[in-house]
Amino acid sequence: MNQLKKTLTLLLLLVLATGRILVAEEGMWIPLLLEKYKIADMQKAGFKLTAEDIYSVNQASMKDAIVIFGGGCTGEMISAEGLLITNHHCGYGTIQRLSTVENDYLTNGFWAMSRAEELPAPGLSVTFLVRIEDVTERCLAGVNESMSAAERNRVIGENSRTIQNEATQGNDYTARIAPFFSGNQYFLFVYELYRDVRLVGAPPSAIGKFGGETDNWIWPRHTGDFSLFRVYAGPDNKPAAYSPDNKPYVPKKHFPISLKGVEKGDFTMVFGYPGRTTQYIPSFSIEGQANYTIPASIDLQTKKLDIIMASMEISPKIRLQYSAKKSGIANGWKKNQGVLLGLNRIKAIDRKIEYEKQFQEWVQQDPERVKKYGTLLENYRKIAEAEVPFQMASVYARNAGAAAEIFNFAGRFLSLLDAAQSKNREEVARLQERLKPMIASHFKDYHAPTDQQILASLMEAYSNGIEEAYQPKLLPEIREQFKGDFAAYAAMVFDKSVFASEESTTRMLETISVSKAKKLRKDPAIQMFMSLSELQREVISPGLIPAQRQLPELQRLYMAAQMEMEPERLFYPDANSTIRVTFGQVSDYAPMDGVKYHHLTTLEGIIEKDNPDIYDYRVPEKLKELYRTKDYGDYATREGQIPVCFIASNHTSGGNSGSPVVNADGHLIGVNFDRNWQGTMSDIMYDPDLCRNISLDIRYALFIIDRFAGAKHIIEELDLVR
Ligand code: ASP
Repeated sequence: MNQLKKTLTLLLLLVLATGRILVAEEGMWIPLLLEKYKIADMQKAGFKLTAEDIYSVNQASMKDAIVIFGGGCTGEMISAEGLLITNHHCGYGTIQRLSTVENDYLTNGFWAMSRAEELPAPGLSVTFLVRIEDVTERCLAGVNESMSAAERNRVIGENSRTIQNEATQGNDYTARIAPFFSGNQYFLFVYELYRDVRLVGAPPSAIGKFGGETDNWIWPRHTGDFSLFRVYAGPDNKPAAYSPDNKPYVPKKHFPISLKGVEKGDFTMVFGYPGRTTQYIPSFSIEGQANYTIPASIDLQTKKLDIIMASMEISPKIRLQYSAKKSGIANGWKKNQGVLLGLNRIKAIDRKIEYEKQFQEWVQQDPERVKKYGTLLENYRKIAEAEVPFQMASVYARNAGAAAEIFNFAGRFLSLLDAAQSKNREEVARLQERLKPMIASHFKDYHAPTDQQILASLMEAYSNGIEEAYQPKLLPEIREQFKGDFAAYAAMVFDKSVFASEESTTRMLETISVSKAKKLRKDPAIQMFMSLSELQREVISPGLIPAQRQLPELQRLYMAAQMEMEPERLFYPDANSTIRVTFGQVSDYAPMDGVKYHHLTTLEGIIEKDNPDIYDYRVPEKLKELYRTKDYGDYATREGQIPVCFIASNHTSGGNSGSPVVNADGHLIGVNFDRNWQGTMSDIMYDPDLCRNISLDIRYALFIIDRFAGAKHIIEELDLVR
């Protein structure tokens, strides 16, 4: 009773403090189903619009303003002329590819002052969602419970193809059917892909990546993580290959931008493409990651990063060459450390074990259940545990074996050697044509001495870190031959291999012959590549097969059983790179006892961090000047400060980068870009007290575009809500 009283008083206090009841924010919801399941909760939490405003096939809705940006990010339309905002880190690869040492847009930023100056970005595409359909019944037609998993998959595969073909007949759409709840439900997603996308603006890295790796995944944060692109279309507003005659795409819907800012407790909604979560896996699957694969990857990646980071200090050229590569590794590396921390903190494994106990009790209560689920967890555990050594082998192959680039690079010439040796002249000529630009792009971002150090360090770690049975066969021989001196081995590889330099690779390409091809098979880089491929083919892949075959089916059953056990609970499906809505509120948090983090950061914090000696914390002169003159206009908070980032309790994941963060009126208030370190375990288990998504305050982006870049014409294109 006492406890109940306490809880009620607390609740009342919260209502008084925030003006509304706090709602549990966990969950990533399918927009198609909002009306049925979630919109009432969202409205209770403050949202003023309807489910139709979010997702509709009858009228323009928010979903028409949202895209999959490139491969794995989200972006949104912010003008009637195809202007798109996403994160700087999402545009990073493109910006880097468009940069040279002379025109270094990554370091200096880029602003197109007219449409003509916008830079085409070959290879970059954006994908709009046309519609979603629940196709569970059609996908499962002809499936029954006595079928083997393989048979079941075959039937579902066939059904899916029929549905996809129907959806794409007579139009230019693409279609994807995705399993939900581990294959207990299926939804169809129809998409339209635009290929002419151009870079419009990007702040210098000192703003767009301010804080760099030091601050990544960290709150408080001061990163101006945005970049601007424009989608172009043919004369009919339909997708078209790049052409100077293309016109800016006119979206069905774009987001108005709010200048009103955010207060603690404000409703927020994030709408985008979270990549992958695993909320419903058993304790032992988490253990496999937390005790084995994650620590091993962190360890190996640390070695590689240390070398890359030291090299990047040598010259601006190397910094540019390795910046995207380094970010690529460091992002996951740092996140994983947070995941371990968070899982530990919330005792995720213990909680799962407790849940499994309850589950087992529930099963025992009914002989029917015992028949269906009696041995489910036991079987699951056996297979999951047997998989671990092969998962570890795979971690080593990827993070140690493939750490130095030279091996995989060499491997890309194998088909050329085959063609040469079989005297297939046509094929040789075709490959020469194709490989030539690949050589140039490889060496553009390559520094051989760095790769040599990586090779030495990671091959040594490979040799020491895992049993020989899981190593490429060549590795123990090398250890023996070089008496454990892997630096000497690396020196030999870079001395002897044709693939160590652009000149020798190009010469080889141009003069390839039967005898040269034969000799090249002895090239040390080719040899290690072959040995690594053999390991993959003969040890890792077959070792992973039993788990790959059986775990999905066991997880499907376990998912179904969990839903059966808790019929009242509204389950949300794991993220699977399909579009989701998540809502929450602007909210601070306590990362540890005695510490509370505020919900908003400002330009003050950037100035405080300014330190010319630390690369990640160098503040551009111009920004400091703007700070001094305080010419903030409309973009300041009521307290007269420039807001930079804010945190909220939206349940997001990787892939939500670049997602729109909207307020109760559906206006854009931010661009999602990260999570707090202690909360990154939300992919496995969400915790409302610890998990926060980090967003760029849209007013900071506007301030940078307007005052820092002087790109007023961009501001004029936007619908600003004051
Ligand atoms: N930073 C992540 C991304 O790049 C977003 C997240 O995981 O919260 O997608």
